[in-house]
Amino acid sequence: MTIQDCARHYDCIVCGGGPSGVAAAIAAGREGLRVLLLERAGYLGGVSTACALPFWLGGFTGSRPYREMLREGTPYECLPRPRRAVGGIFRELCDALRDIGAGTGADPFVMGQAAEHPGLQRLGCHDEFTFDLEAGKRVLEERVLDAGVELCCYTTICGAETNDRRVRSVIGASKRGLTRFRADAFIDCTGDADVAHFAGAPTIASPLGDVSAVSLIAHVENVDAGALEAYLNAGGDPYFRAACARAREEHPEMDLPETMLIFPMVQPGVFMINGGLDLTGYEALDPADMTKLSVRERARAEHIARCVFRHIPGGEHCRVRLTAPWPGVRESRRIVSLGALTEEDLLTGRPIPDSVALAARHFDLDRGRRQPFHEKQLRMKRDAAQIPYSCMVPQGMDNLLAAGRCIQADGQALGPARIMATCFAVGQAAGTAAALRHAEGCAFSEVSYPVLRRHLLEHGAILD
Ligand SMILES: Cc1cc2nc3c(=O)[nH]c(=O)nc-3n(C[C@H](O)[C@H](O)[C@H](O)COP(=O)(O)OP(=O)(O)OC[C@H]3O[C@@H](n4cnc5c(N)ncnc54)[C@H](O)[C@@H]3O)c2cc1C
Repeated sequence: MTIQDCARHYDCIVCGGGPSGVAAAIAAGREGLRVLLLERAGYLGGVSTACALPFWLGGFTGSRPYREMLREGTPYECLPRPRRAVGGIFRELCDALRDIGAGTGADPFVMGQAAEHPGLQRLGCHDEFTFDLEAGKRVLEERVLDAGVELCCYTTICGAETNDRRVRSVIGASKRGLTRFRADAFIDCTGDADVAHFAGAPTIASPLGDVSAVSLIAHVENVDAGALEAYLNAGGDPYFRAACARAREEHPEMDLPETMLIFPMVQPGVFMINGGLDLTGYEALDPADMTKLSVRERARAEHIARCVFRHIPGGEHCRVRLTAPWPGVRESRRIVSLGALTEEDLLTGRPIPDSVALAARHFDLDRGRRQPFHEKQLRMKRDAAQIPYSCMVPQGMDNLLAAGRCIQADGQALGPARIMATCFAVGQAAGTAAALRHAEGCAFSEVSYPVLRRHLLEHGAILD
């Protein structure tokens, strides 16, 4: 099959336009590099837009969900409002969305249905930033283009050409066929380490069965937020166990969950169902498995809206508003890097000599239900873990870097490392490192950490 050549040669190609890719492209573009951002979807944002999850967590420290603290008796007024953990480009994007009235942080509320019904905050966490999906897509595009980045959507990277420890090009598939894109350096922000994999760099993946669930997110609408708020304020269960149990009794033939996590979106009466936490055993890189999961979850969303919500105060007229265009993959292939983030690093909070970002969310899903994750959080020695630069540098490659959820972290450490605010921070570090590498003409492994650190701090990053 013929491969057409893209006429331009770039200083840096960022592969994937999720949180990490957007930040990497902006940072590298602002440093003056000729940057191309390649994305398979028609818009930016990755999981936050393509998986209908406009819910950036991890911008602040202290990650225990409010609902658990409330259950343990912490009065609502006494819930923590902790310190900022991610600044830089992430903070700028949140401010831009807030300024146009399209985004809101948990503290303080400035718009959206939670401003009118602050009791809905009981469903959330202290650190979420929620925004209007469409506005999010626009703001990300504007910032990327303002940074001088060339954006090419609708292009799926399906190969790479490598020699002498260097990626020479990536191959993109589109309606025009295959195109070869060349650059001096590449940043793999595909979430699944696609570029590293196609380039022949070593990668790892947790075994099926010991991997965080894949979920298809759904939004429901027509919920009476006031009635739901009153129920929660009166001590109602934020996991909706009783409603799920009744629906399961009434409809044993349906595939209904035992508990449900829902979060208020900015539009009145709209809630996101972060469902399917029990859906393990699907192979995220297998299209057949992802098709099965999507079909199952789309039907389940409809059943939840019709059969579970009718038992929740305010949910009687609920209906499905949308299901996500893509299933949300929490964990798949990752690079094998010069260093790695481990569960031990999180627990001890040991100082990391080449810190490029903070992971403030600590432990995430209870993998395999071996131990409730909040028990581990209680054992954490520090309020955030540092992410090392070395876990972004793949072994055996001089001009490839990874950012986002495909950096090397062990299964437990990946939970906090893959949270979106942290992905923006790591992406910013990657784009900045690309500029330093370009200026110094060295391998990514040889970029001077003190210089990288200084640049990041000058641009609002928080590293300690
Ligand atoms: C179900 C679910 C719930 C979550 N809940 C939250 C939450 O509430 N808050 C939070 O902060 N985090 C949450 N996370 C985690 C977070 O969303 C992800 O870990 C994060 O988005 C990873 O960022 P990323 O930039 O590494 O990759 P992604 O967001 O996955 O972005 C990767 C981008 O690369 C593109 N891409 C992939 N492969 C290719 C290719 N071959 N060629 C071209 N483009 C490609 C994709 O289209 C996408 O745009 C959740 C994740 C999931 C799956």
